[in-house]
Amino acid sequence: MKKILLIEDDPLLIDIYRTKLETAGFTVAIVNDGEKALEAVGLENPDAVLLDIVLPKVDGWEILKGIKEKDNKIKVIVLSNLGQKEEVEKGFNLGAEKYLIKANFTPSDVVAEIEKLFI
Ligand SMILES: [Mg+2]
Repeated sequence: MKKILLIEDDPLLIDIYRTKLETAGFTVAIVNDGEKALEAVGLENPDAVLLDIVLPKVDGWEILKGIKEKDNKIKVIVLSNLGQKEEVEKGFNLGAEKYLIKANFTPSDVVAEIEKLFI
């Protein structure tokens, strides 16, 4: 069973994604605070991370950098409201596998994108 670490601070989105991902057969770990995110990556050893960018204390860019420095094999999918071209490019430059803009992807779409990583 693949484990997804969800790094997200919006309680509603946490609820939705936890349910959707578990229904799809993933194990889900959650962290809602940027400061705890890197520690959680070490503890949970996830197969993939679903990463918000706008987070309390430490933003998703720093977390993405830290994950990639720690273990380049962990796949990171950015899921953010930030959708400017420069932001998307920044995500890919930092090593994101995918960059999904929240307004353009339903939760089911997002889960489908995660499933594609493991085919
Ligand atoms: Mg956020």
